[in-house]
Amino acid sequence: KSKQLQQPEPGKLLPQVKNIIAVSSGKGGVGKSTVAANLAVALAQKGYKVGLLDADIFGPSVPKMFGVEDARPFAEEINGKDMIVPVEKYGIKILSIGFFVDKDSAVVWRGGMASNALKQLIADANWDELDYFVLDLPPGTSDIHLTLVQTLAISGAIVVTTPQEVALADARKGIDMFTNDKVHVPVLGLVENMAWFTPAELPENKYFIFGKEGGKKLAESLGVRLLGQIPIVQSICEGGDKGVPVALSPNTITGKAFEKLAEQVI
Ligand code: ADP
Repeated sequence: KSKQLQQPEPGKLLPQVKNIIAVSSGKGGVGKSTVAANLAVALAQKGYKVGLLDADIFGPSVPKMFGVEDARPFAEEINGKDMIVPVEKYGIKILSIGFFVDKDSAVVWRGGMASNALKQLIADANWDELDYFVLDLPPGTSDIHLTLVQTLAISGAIVVTTPQEVALADARKGIDMFTNDKVHVPVLGLVENMAWFTPAELPENKYFIFGKEGGKKLAESLGVRLLGQIPIVQSICEGGDKGVPVALSPNTITGKAFEKLAEQVI
């Protein structure tokens, strides 16, 4: 198992952060934010210092997933400079563009503006020392991804997909973005989310609603690790809506799934 403790490259931001993990997906709606949020919680549950940046600038969902939609971070002066203070929930330092925009209005930003706003949330915020800094990236491949890769020494990327054909095709592109000639971000592996559904009254049955083991097969064909298969479970969805991620309950099946995922990343 590889250790991701790589030395930050000179000139990149956040040298006091040990590991920067980017969570991405090819398509939207596959559970990228759910995985990022629960991974952050599972790492914090293990006693690590964790930060979470919601970089999904066009659909920030981290504030809702942590029940901090109304938080408005303030600034404090550190060494003569105004620094944004991240919101803290469940022991995790959180920032999201969602804290700074009206949550009911669409954010219509050109790529450059969005990238600048994100740079500010990274460079002008008091993240302090962190063991893990989890980035919830926007879906797809964009300028924002390139900016983040150039700004931060990303230790590794996780790509989330469902087993469905259309999602897999886009996940393949996402992996290619991290491993092409210009960007050298190690891909930690794939997470197959919504892998199957098991009804409560038929606990032995698995229904492969989005197809069977598509993520596993893609990981095999690309030679990347399959970090986990997460079933469709109502509590995962409800936990996200209520602001109480399932990873806070490590004794449940879903909590254990995310604990295992965190162990693959450590
Ligand atoms: P993305 O970040 O890829 O757009 P989200 O994490 O916002 O996706 O997830 C999309 C929706 O699916 C959310 O309502 C979320 O609660 C739900 N969801 C994600 N993963 C699961 C799962 N394994 N079981 C049940 N619901 C899930």
